[in-house]
Formats: sequence, C-alpha cells, structure tokens
Amino acid sequence: MEGLGDAPSPRRERSASTGRSRDGGSGRVARRNLSGEVVDRIRALIFDGTLKAGQRVPQDTIARDLGVSRLPVREALISLEAEGLVVSEPHRGTYVVPILQEDIADHYRVYGMAQGLAARRAATRITEPTMARLKQLHELMRKTEDESELHSLNWEFHALINQTGGSRRLLSVLRQLARNLPREVYEVAPGADPEASRDHQELIEALEAADGARADTLSRQHMAREADYVIAKLKRDGILADDLD
Ligand SMILES: [Zn+2]
Repeated sequence: MEGLGDAPSPRRERSASTGRSRDGGSGRVARRNLSGEVVDRIRALIFDGTLKAGQRVPQDTIARDLGVSRLPVREALISLEAEGLVVSEPHRGTYVVPILQEDIADHYRVYGMAQGLAARRAATRITEPTMARLKQLHELMRKTEDESELHSLNWEFHALINQTGGSRRLLSVLRQLARNLPREVYEVAPGADPEASRDHQELIEALEAADGARADTLSRQHMAREADYVIAKLKRDGILADDLD
C-alpha cells in the first residue's frame, strides 16, 4: 500500500520526519524495508499461533526479540491492520483479529482470479522459449523429490505465466497477494501432488492451444486446490477461529 500514492496519514508523516532527522536523510528506505520485515515476522507469529486471536500484541517484546525500536513495530501494526490481521483500540493496544476459514478461502479465490487473468492473456502472448521453459519446469517438478526445490520450480512456473500475461498493475496485485500469507503457510501444499501436476500439464496444453478461457479456469482451480491444503493445515494447527470440528 505504501508508495502507491495514498495520502500519508499524519502519523506516518510524523514518523517519516523522525526517521529523516535521526538518519540524516539516508535511512528512510532502509527503515521502510525494516518495517516490511517486521510486518512479515509479526504475520508469521499470527499464522503459527504464537500470537492468538484476541491477544494484545506485545509490542515491546516483539521489538526486543527482533532487535528493533518500537517505531518499526508500530508501523508494521498499521500495515497489518490494513490487511485485517490486527485491530488497534485507542488507549488500549493492538489486538490479533480471529482468522476465519472464509478469509483464507477468499484470499485464494482472489489470487486464483488474478492469476487466471494473467494466464488468459498469456495464452495469446506466450513465446516459444517461454513455452519450452514451462515444459522443462513441469518435467523437473515431476522428477525431483526435494520439497524446497519443488516449491521454487513451482514458483518460477507461475511467475513466468504471470509475467507473460500480467500488466504492471496486475503484477503489483499479485506481489501483494503473495506476501499476504507467510511462506511457511502456503508452502504446505505438496509440490509433488498428482492433481497439481495434472493442473500444470493442462495449463501448458491450454496455453499452447491459445485457449485463454481454459487457462483462466485451470488457474482458479489450481489455487482452490492450494486453498484446501492451507485451510487443512491451519485447522490442524488450531489457527482458524471458526473451526468447530
Ligand atoms: Zn502450481
């Protein structure tokens, strides 16, 4: 959300000017990155259950554990509130919001729609070399038994399709979506899953046939599958607030 032309809040303006005076003008970008890293760390603490729904976020402890001042922690909480993961109550503190199954399901629906849009356009734009690389990645995914390699191959496979068909605007949305769930959560989907592999095969065929509608449908189906894995994992870990079974 930062840097996209939103009017800065008075609070952010104040903290930015504090950063400038303290860092002599050079630390602003670094400080923004720092706040982004703190966002990722706190998000991971929420999704692994260290910070529980309804719990007050212990800002001092987090700042101490991460070896940062309170400022990037406060800034991180502003970003996380915009994401809907925490809510701040004036004079009381910032609290963890319960995560519902529909939050995760919707995350993946939106993700699937965004990837589907890119795949639909990629079907008419894809070049031979990109097509060849997709097939190669698909083969490598079928052969390897290394989970971490599978995930990076899978990442490149989808990134290639996104970059082929996505506008800059769409790629920015996709980047944001990729960050909204911690890596440890979305990497639960097994790369070697036969159904995921069939999706990849069919996606390649749809792109080769320039069948944009099919590529769109397959992309959404592929993300719905990942949603099932992630929801099952979060249920197992007791992270979902509405998990009654
Ligand atoms: Zn995939």
